[in-house]
This record gives sequence, C-alpha cells and structure tokens, in this order.
Amino acid sequence: STAQTAAHIAQVERYAAHNYHPLPVVLSHGEGAWVTDVEGRRYLDCLSGYSALNFGHGHPRLLARAQEQLARLTLTSRAFHNDQLGPFAEALAALTGKDMILPMNTGAEAVETALKVSRRWGYRVKGVPENEANIVVMEGNFHGRTTTIVSFSDDKVARDDYGPYTPGFRTVTYGDSQALREAVDDFTVAVLLEPVQGEGGVVIPPEGYLRDVRAICDEAGALMVADEIQSGLARTGRTFACEHEEVVPDVYVLGKALGGGLYPVSAIATNHEILEVITPGSHGSTFGGNPLAAAIGHEVVTMLAEGEFQRRSTHLGHLLTECLQPLLGHGDGTGLSEVRVRGLWAGLDIEPGGPSGRVVSERLMAHGVLAKDTHGSTIRIAPPLVVTEDEVRLLVDAVAEALAGP
Ligand code: PLP
Repeated sequence: STAQTAAHIAQVERYAAHNYHPLPVVLSHGEGAWVTDVEGRRYLDCLSGYSALNFGHGHPRLLARAQEQLARLTLTSRAFHNDQLGPFAEALAALTGKDMILPMNTGAEAVETALKVSRRWGYRVKGVPENEANIVVMEGNFHGRTTTIVSFSDDKVARDDYGPYTPGFRTVTYGDSQALREAVDDFTVAVLLEPVQGEGGVVIPPEGYLRDVRAICDEAGALMVADEIQSGLARTGRTFACEHEEVVPDVYVLGKALGGGLYPVSAIATNHEILEVITPGSHGSTFGGNPLAAAIGHEVVTMLAEGEFQRRSTHLGHLLTECLQPLLGHGDGTGLSEVRVRGLWAGLDIEPGGPSGRVVSERLMAHGVLAKDTHGSTIRIAPPLVVTEDEVRLLVDAVAEALAGP
C-alpha cells in the first residue's frame, strides 16, 4: 500500500482501539456495489457492511429521503412524539405481519430488547416463577457484543474475561431438533436463533429444522425469536430467511439493512399480547425511533414491500451457485471443499491445504474484490443486491484466482 493508505492506517492504529483487524484498504467513496479507496482504486464490495448495505451504497431513494428528513427534524427523543415514527411502525408491522414494533438502533440492542421482552412475558404471561426463566440459544451463534449477549456466546475471543456472565441461557447444537426438544422445559421463555448463522459462516440448518423449532416452541409454550439482523430484509431471496421453511416466529429481530447502511436502525416486531409487557420507563433509548431513523427505515420497508430486491437476490444467488461449481473439490488446495448459498449470500470453505481465509481476502483485494474471512478458512460473500450478473461472474473469477495463487 502506498503512503496515503499507510498514513491513514497508522493514524487509526495509534488513536483507535484495536478491536478489529481490517484489510489494509482505506475507503473514501461508495456508489452502488462499488467502493473507491483513497488512492482512487475501485473495488466490488462483497461484504456489504455485513449485509447492512443490501441496497448498495448511496441508494438514490434512501439518500433523497434521508436528506429531506435531515434538514427537517432529526431527533425529538421519545419524550415527545414525532411525525415519522407512526408511519414507519405501521409499515414495518405490515411487512413482518406483526401487530407492533419496538424501535432501537443497533442489532445488539434489538437482541437485548427481545431477551427482556421474552423474560418479562415469561414471568407476567406464561407464569414462570421469579428469576427462573431460561432462554435456549444455539452453538456457534452470533447476536452481538453486549455483556449479556457474549455471556451465551461460545466464541472464546468474544467472551473471555468479560465475566461474571449473565445466567439464564442454555446452549444446544444448531440444527439438532432432538437436542432442542430435550433442552426446553416449563421455564423456557424463548428459543433464540439465527435462521442462517451469518458470522458462523453462512450455516444453513437442515431442511425442516426451523419448522421443528416452531413446533417445539409451540409445545413448550416458549417464544420463537428469530434474529434476522443479518439474514433478513431480502439477503436470502425472501424478506425473512424463516420464509424458506414457511415458518413465522413470534418475534423478529431486525437491524443492519433496516437502516439501509445510512444509519443504525433496529427493531423487534411481535404481537400485542407479547409487547404489551413493555410499559413506560421499562425500556428505551435516546435515539431509538428518532425521526431520521424512522424516515430511512420507512423507505427501506417501502422498497422491500415491492419485492424487487428479493427477486434479484434469488436470481443472482442461482447464478452464484452455478458459477461456483467449478471451484468445488479440486483436492489440491486450490478449490473449495464446501459452498453454502442462500440467495445472494454464500459461505465458501477453502479446501484443506489451501491458503488461509485471511490470505484469500488479501488476494481478493488485490483483484479488486472486498470480502472477509470468518472462522479461519471460510470466505463470506454478500454483495449488495444491486450487483449485475457480470459482477457476480467477476467476483467468482476473482475467488478462483485468489485460491489458485498470488
Ligand atoms: N445479530 C446478528 C445475527 C448479527 O449478524 C449481528 C451483527 O453482525 C448482530 C446481531 C449485532 O448487530 P450490531 O453489530 O448492529 O450490534
């Protein structure tokens, strides 16, 4: 990297905490599926801000709505009403098929909201004795970074030395219905899961698993809480990944793309008999439901309601699957041992003996494609849903070259 890039990296290393290990690229502009670095080099963005940028960088509709609202009113706090929250809430309730929403900002906050609502519902509606509630979670989960959320993570790096941990969680193997059946009991208030584990490496559960989870929750009288923060909002070709099994959870947890990549917007969506356990003063956030967030979120929901992004994701996902086939099973470390695709979202496992995920990401960067490794030897591919067919081919060509050598 040249001097300008090196200077930016040195500055951030010196003055900002080292809580990430970014690729050595310093971006300054973005449009659609493409970003440009400070040296003027262009890259195809195949991470999309961990799927927050499903609609691409600077989508004209989102920009226009945000700019208009930015000049009008940005923050009221929830001490007063604003004229944007109601329309957003109604539209998101309609999109999810739920009665109402609770707006927050980041994904982790929405997950925390779902946990609090589940526990309160357990005590006040289900009748679980005080402090006895348990919530079942999945091995390999990723739900965010708060102290409670890392308490039930099994990623050592994410949780070590942040104890004492929040009790009340049980972990079962993801995709194993029998294990879940054995873990739930009368005091289980919720089962929290990602319908596809994103950070886990785009892990798709066996067919029928989500339907089993739904049935087990119904039998146990527990809430099925689907964290669709990364999997939802058109990424998998459906509005929600749960739709692949025609399953409707009790609670949707949404974030990332809900703010269109312009702004942090998150929410839970659920029904009245569940959300009514939240009363004035019992939960909230200064920024949650602010008029700028609501205006952007409303535009996102309007775009999703039209269905075009879901269709693009399905179509381009089929193309991606097809293009990836020749990379499978080379057996000499220049290919992929497994590919998991759902919509325009793929986890690519590098063959044993091949380069590390980090090395492949760095080589992809040299080929003008930005993607990130997860869990050592998996590359996650999640371009904005505005990419073209040629761009999908281009990215697969880059993957093939990155696997083959420097
Ligand atoms: N839940 C899932 C499934 C996620 O993928 C993420 C972020 O990667 C989160 C929660 C946390 O969201 P945030 O980083 O906005 O707190």
